[in-house]
Amino acid sequence: VAEEVLRPAAGALDATSPPQRVAPGSPFFTAMATLTSLGYHRLFVPGDGVDKEDHAAWRVRALVVEELGWGSLGLATAFLVDMLPFVSVARFGTDELRAELLRPWLEDEVASWHGCWAITEPDHGSDYLGLRDDDPGIRHGPPVAMLGVRDDPQGELFFDEVFVPDHRVLVPPGPLYPVFGDQLLCMTSSIIALAAVGVARAAFEEALAYARRRVQGGHVIASHKNIQFTLYGMFERVETARAYARAVLAHTFRTVLGAGSWGTGASPRHTRTSQASCKRIAFEVAHDAVQVCGASGLVQGALVDRRFRDARSLLIEDGTVEVLGLDAARDLVGNYEHDHDDLEEMMQRW
Ligand SMILES: Cc1cc2nc3c(=O)[nH]c(=O)nc-3n(C[C@H](O)[C@H](O)[C@H](O)COP(=O)(O)OP(=O)(O)OC[C@H]3O[C@@H](n4cnc5c(N)ncnc54)[C@H](O)[C@@H]3O)c2cc1C
Repeated sequence: VAEEVLRPAAGALDATSPPQRVAPGSPFFTAMATLTSLGYHRLFVPGDGVDKEDHAAWRVRALVVEELGWGSLGLATAFLVDMLPFVSVARFGTDELRAELLRPWLEDEVASWHGCWAITEPDHGSDYLGLRDDDPGIRHGPPVAMLGVRDDPQGELFFDEVFVPDHRVLVPPGPLYPVFGDQLLCMTSSIIALAAVGVARAAFEEALAYARRRVQGGHVIASHKNIQFTLYGMFERVETARAYARAVLAHTFRTVLGAGSWGTGASPRHTRTSQASCKRIAFEVAHDAVQVCGASGLVQGALVDRRFRDARSLLIEDGTVEVLGLDAARDLVGNYEHDHDDLEEMMQRW
């Protein structure tokens, strides 16, 4: 799927205009429909089937996210963000909301439902609400042209005097609200880290293949020590990033979704470290891949060029690496001696 569906769709989307990317029949919707028809949208749905101690299950999820990121960062992140409101409704929604939103989404086979997570606001502080884009007062801006992840069309959402009925409020204002927000960020951080590993691996593999075939001065460039050392450095970072990201993902999901109930044991400092470090590694590896490929790596639309632009965007999307680092630092300074946050203290702090 990553190779035969996501990669061609990502290449086509990168080359088209923002309005074309969201037009009916666009490769974006075809790719989303394929992933949905295969049931990948149910990857993180909590339920009785989630076995807390089933390490293999978390490993498989980690593998799937890495593969999606390897295929296309934009389509992977779009697909993963799509899931968020529904996974949240699965756990916190009223029966009415579950019937209205969750059930049709679970049974969806053509990606007719798209979720979004509106967390970035002018002054921050978004709410966890189950809204639909055809609700009165909700409108969205035009798709924006960006440097990278063009296969994940971006745009603003506007909420003007939107009425939210009680049954659509997932987590009401109060002490649970910030805890939920933090634990959700732990989940998204540990997932996006593995998508970043996928980007890094794709860039590394592209550079390796190029170095093996590119002949300069009568030899393939892979025979030069400097290229060998660069390739080794890329490989080393991909492997170590993956190991850390997998460990963090397994811990996060065992503690948050394990045994069919939401826990609050995910670690802010470890999940933010996983996200920030894997993003940085993805950028460094993509940067090295451009260098190994020489001018070929600069050709617009080439895989290495797209990986580099995507990895650069990744340093900003889903939280800048600086803000993620500061978030981890807060947890470190205040909580280093403890395995996880004290719930009472956490509710007061926020
Ligand atoms: C491809 C893409 C997809 C996205 N998808 C979504 C989405 O699905 N939902 C959504 O809600 N948002 C989304 N975003 C928005 C994204 O989360 C924000 O762009 C990101 O969190 C940074 O916020 P900002 O752009 O407002 O930058 P700013 O917050 O203005 O940051 C600008 C600079 O200031 C620094 N800075 C900001 N605040 C602080 C602070 N408190 N302390 C120290 N330094 C600080 C930052 O590190 C950065 O260098 C997406 C962005 C991109 C690029």
